[in-house]
Amino acid sequence: MLPQKRPPISRPIAAIRLDGGRLCLDFVNTIHDHYAEQVEDYIFQPERFIDWCMRSGAILPGEPIAAPEGASRRAALMRKVRALRHHLHALLASRIDGVTPPEDAVQCIDQWLHRAWASQSLGLDGQMHWRDDAYHALLPLQRIALDALALIGDPSALQLRRCANTSSCGWLFLDTSKNQRRRWCAMETCGTAFKMRRYRQPHT
Ligand SMILES: [Zn+2]
Repeated sequence: MLPQKRPPISRPIAAIRLDGGRLCLDFVNTIHDHYAEQVEDYIFQPERFIDWCMRSGAILPGEPIAAPEGASRRAALMRKVRALRHHLHALLASRIDGVTPPEDAVQCIDQWLHRAWASQSLGLDGQMHWRDDAYHALLPLQRIALDALALIGDPSALQLRRCANTSSCGWLFLDTSKNQRRRWCAMETCGTAFKMRRYRQPHT
């Protein structure tokens, strides 16, 4: 008999930490622990994804974007959310590790960038604007891809880090600290846990 799957944990969207320092990093950090066998996905259903987008700024106040209706459209959205997050994580992790990114990750981001550009038009004000028909649940994913592009093409990409908690975190963040020695996604979570473990170890 297969082991029973645990129901997903529904921590409140308002309680989800945004410690990445950028939208695209907070998006890949919607997996609570990248090393867990059974991951806690903060945005496992369309309503939670939309709520998280509003909290993180992937959807701006007043934008008419809601979770889709209908089982197949909802499932399709979540497949796209998971795929972009997976590939974006692979792409950013490759930057941190100094290795060539996986080809399928680059292709995935590339496709989202093309969608994002095709969804915008140049306005009379000289700025790019989302077209009226772009306001649906896929817009935030396009915005996240654009943010990732802006990051990897920017000198601040050198500040990309992975949380030093390699047993139960794996979050990515930008180290904007003065001395460039930030190790943890957040001191009050992973940093404190590390200090507690070290404190409990017998002193020799
Ligand atoms: Zn961490």
